[in-house]
Formats: sequence, C-alpha cells, structure tokens
Amino acid sequence: MALEFQEIEAARRRIAPLVEATPLKQSLDLSDRLNAPVWLKYETLHATGAFKIRGATNRVLAMAPEERARGVVTVSTGNHGRALAYLARQMALRAVVCITDLVPKEKLEALEALGAEVQIAGKDQNEADKRARALAEREGLVFVPPFDDRHVIAGQGTIGLEMLEARPELETLVVQLSGGGLISGIALAAKSLKPSIRIIAVSTMQGAAMMESVQAGRIVEVEERPSIADALPGPIPQDNRYTFPLCQRLVDDYVQVEEQEIAEAMAFILKSEKCLVEGAAAVGVAALLSGRIELDGEPAATVLTGNNIDAARALKICKESQHV
Ligand SMILES: *Cc1c(COP(=O)(O)O)cnc(C)c1O
Repeated sequence: MALEFQEIEAARRRIAPLVEATPLKQSLDLSDRLNAPVWLKYETLHATGAFKIRGATNRVLAMAPEERARGVVTVSTGNHGRALAYLARQMALRAVVCITDLVPKEKLEALEALGAEVQIAGKDQNEADKRARALAEREGLVFVPPFDDRHVIAGQGTIGLEMLEARPELETLVVQLSGGGLISGIALAAKSLKPSIRIIAVSTMQGAAMMESVQAGRIVEVEERPSIADALPGPIPQDNRYTFPLCQRLVDDYVQVEEQEIAEAMAFILKSEKCLVEGAAAVGVAALLSGRIELDGEPAATVLTGNNIDAARALKICKESQHV
C-alpha cells in the first residue's frame, strides 16, 4: 500500500516526546547570492547530529512493546546506525549493527560507545546486509532498514511538515538524495500541503544510484567512488518497495554536484552561518550556489542534514576549498 500523508502526521505525534523540531532559518548570504529568500533547515541540531533520528524513532516506536523488546538490527555505519544505537540506549533495547571489515576503527568505536553490539561480516555491504537479516531471523531482532521502510520515510517526512508550516510561501525545496528516504518523506509532506511546490534532488557525481534508476525506469547498479559527502553514495537494493516509486512520482528535477563544489559549500556554510557540517549536508547549498537551479526570486529552502565529520578534517576541507 502506498505511503499516505497521514502517516507523516502520525509520525510527528509519535516522535514528539523524543525528537525535537528544528529551526528553519534564513541565510542572508545565500539569499543575496541567489536573489531570492533562501532558508536552511538545521537538522544538525539533533542529539546524534543528523535527521536520521526521526525515521529510526518512528520505526521503533511504531513496534509493539513485545516486538521492540527483542531488540533491533541494522547495517548502516553512518547516521542511521548511530541514530538507532542512540535510541536503543535511551530505551534500554538491544541494538546490533552489522558492518564490513572496511569500516574505519573510529566509526566502530563510536557505535560501541553508544552501546551497540557491532558484528563484522565480510568485506562487502551485501554480506553485512545478509548477516543482519540472518540475525534478525535467528535471534528475533527487528531489522530496521536505513531508508526503504514506510515508518522511516514517514519519520523523515516530518521535516517537510515543519518546513511548510514555518514557511508556507516556499516554492522550491532542494533535498539531498541517496537511498531516498529523506526526499520521499519531505516531498510527500510538502506536496500534500502545497501541490505546486517543486522538489529538486541533489546527488554527487560519485555514484547517483537513485537518480540513474529513475532515469532508467528500473533499479540499476552504479559504480561508486569515495565522496566528501560520504553519507550519499550507496546502492539501492533490488527489492526496493517505497523510495523508488516515491522518487519517480514526486521528484521534479535531479541535479549533481562536483566534489569541489561540496567543499566550497561547506566553507560557505561555515563562514556565513558559523555552522560546521558534513559533506552530505552541504550538497543542497552546493547545488544552489552552482547556479544549476533557477529560483526566479521565489523562496526556497534546503536541509543541513548532518554534522558527523571529524572537526579537524572538516576545517581542512573548508580551508583547502579556498573560500575561508
Ligand atoms: C542518510 C543521509 C542523507 C540521505 O538520505 P537518504 O534517505 O538515504 O536519501 C543525507 N545526508 C545525511 C547527513 C545522511 O545521513
């Protein structure tokens, strides 16, 4: 059954006790540069530094208490795994994160510090995925996918509700696209409240699996290269149920940005907003600054999705982009 707008409203009520709404603030510098009011949604302000806490919380709270008590398992090493581990600790649940042996030690330690059990499963993401599903089966844990899940999408969609309620005049939303949980939720919320709003997806040049899949009309595999926006490249599993059709239906346009543009956008956000973000969080601003999106003076917004990056590394990227 297709995801409904009401599920996003239900998600907001469900997660409210655990997840705070975030501010939408105008960027005067971006507005100047683009000759249009441009707003930034500060998803960096969550306890785990990224929006993924919304979807993970909605998924876990939607479970029956007996189901939840069995514990949760996932494969993400990034913001989703972190969010789930944090939430499980808050709720005193068991959390297992399956990773590949390519995952850097500090990421593994960060997950363990949040109280998650980490299981190392081979060297490719598909093996880690298989291990997680097998564990779910064998130990009765609940598998919580990073994006292709209706509760996860509805949770991320609460960002769209907050944005449109704060600024009903918005005409364009520029949103990061990886697996598509974020943009599917935001687009469903925003277009339900304002059908004329334009949704623009932004991916990197380093592997834009969902964009290419939508263009091909089926899920395709894409060669992936490392990106400053490390939360973005990643495969779309063939058994996708929700995010692929939602992107097909709700995304109006796709834009890709270069690595250098992402670095410059990180520096711009630091300099203008005094906010240090991870690469993935800066791609919306990068797309706007690149001039590839025509705003015609109309109000627009993008999301600062997260700030999980080593501060010294982030500053180095900003400095080397020669904008600071
Ligand atoms: C997960 C993530 C994204 C992309 O979200 P999808 O739902 O996978 O498209 C963007 N930015 C950050 C910081 C993320 O963690």
